[in-house]
Amino acid sequence: MEYKSFIGGAWHETSDSTPNVNPSDTSDILGHAAVGGADDMARAIDAAAGAAAQWAKSTPQQRFDVLDFIGSEILARKAELGELLSREEGKTLPEGIGEAARAGQIFKFFAGETLRQTGDILASVRPGIGVDVTRSPIGVVGLITPWNFPIAIPAWKIAPALAFGNAVVLKPAELVPGCAHALADIISRSGLPEGVFNLVFGRGSVVGPELIGSKKVNAISFTGSVGTGRSIAADCGKMLKKVQLEMGGKNPMVVLDDADLDIAVDACVNGAYFSTGQRCTASSRLIVTEGIHDKFVAAVEERLNNLNVGHALRKETHIGPVVDEKQLQQDLDYVDIAAKDGGKVIGGQRLNRDTEGFFMAPALVTETTNDMRINREEVFGPVASVVRVKDYDEALAVANDTEFGLSSGICTTSLKHASHFKANAEAGMVMVNLPTAGVDYHVPFGGTKASSFGSREQGTYAAEFYTTVKTAYTLP
Ligand code: NAD
Repeated sequence: MEYKSFIGGAWHETSDSTPNVNPSDTSDILGHAAVGGADDMARAIDAAAGAAAQWAKSTPQQRFDVLDFIGSEILARKAELGELLSREEGKTLPEGIGEAARAGQIFKFFAGETLRQTGDILASVRPGIGVDVTRSPIGVVGLITPWNFPIAIPAWKIAPALAFGNAVVLKPAELVPGCAHALADIISRSGLPEGVFNLVFGRGSVVGPELIGSKKVNAISFTGSVGTGRSIAADCGKMLKKVQLEMGGKNPMVVLDDADLDIAVDACVNGAYFSTGQRCTASSRLIVTEGIHDKFVAAVEERLNNLNVGHALRKETHIGPVVDEKQLQQDLDYVDIAAKDGGKVIGGQRLNRDTEGFFMAPALVTETTNDMRINREEVFGPVASVVRVKDYDEALAVANDTEFGLSSGICTTSLKHASHFKANAEAGMVMVNLPTAGVDYHVPFGGTKASSFGSREQGTYAAEFYTTVKTAYTLP
């Protein structure tokens, strides 16, 4: 399969291409993706800029029809798209199909939003004057996405961008061209005018600066690592360009003595290890009070011993591979660092399976303190650590002692502690007796501190980023 860029309504050849490897089985090459250059990006931006005015004038019904078609197609093909996702990124098949379905539902949600676009009529302080507030498209938006949710994250940026009348240039992560290509293929058949949606493959460091630096691009929505996000925000700041960043996490999960042990173990194992721990919302710091600590660690260890790590497409697999060799090495290195810093490691070794892939036993590092590197830096793999604390007050203090603020959770049967935690956890999302990962597709998503910058994604809150507000005064 050749994954070409999609520019101005046509598939676009490039001289250079790169193979796309299945992380469960490196002998399985999915295809070859175009490696675009700055000139390809410039062409895509021109195409979007040329098409933006027409799409901005489209009726809600036209936008509804396009988004509804895309959503229906994705939902009808969720099994095939989910399989592609699992083969390309390494999520298990149920997770892959679930992600594809979520992307379809996101397009359906924003199809509905096209018909619900509202404004405000406000009273003026001056006599006889009417004030009305309306939302307009921002123009051309650049969307930069990571590899770990290769269908859902592009969907939750593309759908509101189009619903609110903007033209799009998508720059997906290098590791997952197949998913981006499949999405573009569906969008290309949706009736969207040529140039309104464009996809450019290429290295972030090459095509990214062209997208961010272009005067024709009015806003950038980025999801990825904090380092890349910071430099994008700095560049956008110099140009006074609207920017939205969703970045990393070091998400705490507090387990109190009064927690239901089964619920706590389920929440922590799911939150820390499912999707191979490669989720920005992964429960990577398990903060456990003394009375339940030993029972909790023993129960998690038992669960880890019963998880099957293996080929993402096999039915019996609970945890698929890490996405590539570089990420795997980074995960293994963090386990070593944690051990050298005094942590006690359960699991965490490289695994050989009957296919050549990037497999690793889930790691639980106990006896850690919150100042160790394992508790300060995002690992982005199947690695979680345990911090033992005295009581709820210490647990909350440790939970908030991090530069990140994406998601946080608490397992408790105490309404008092759950309510206090909801109010005082420094995070954009708080979960009670649920994993820190696993969010709905129609409610606001995002964090605080170094995890997020700018307005929220998803749901009705997405209007804030993808529109600009106009206030008009009328003296009739
Ligand atoms: P990354 O920062 O390496 O890359 C993200 C995207 O940015 C890719 O498309 C990449 O090509 C592009 N890029 C790289 N350099 C660029 C540059 N100079 N200019 C413009 N674009 C550039 O991140 P990743 O490894 O793909 O993803 C993993 C990270 O994403 C983790 O830190 C994870 O926590 C984060 N993430 C956050 C969320 C969230 O919503 N908060 C969701 C998923 C992943």
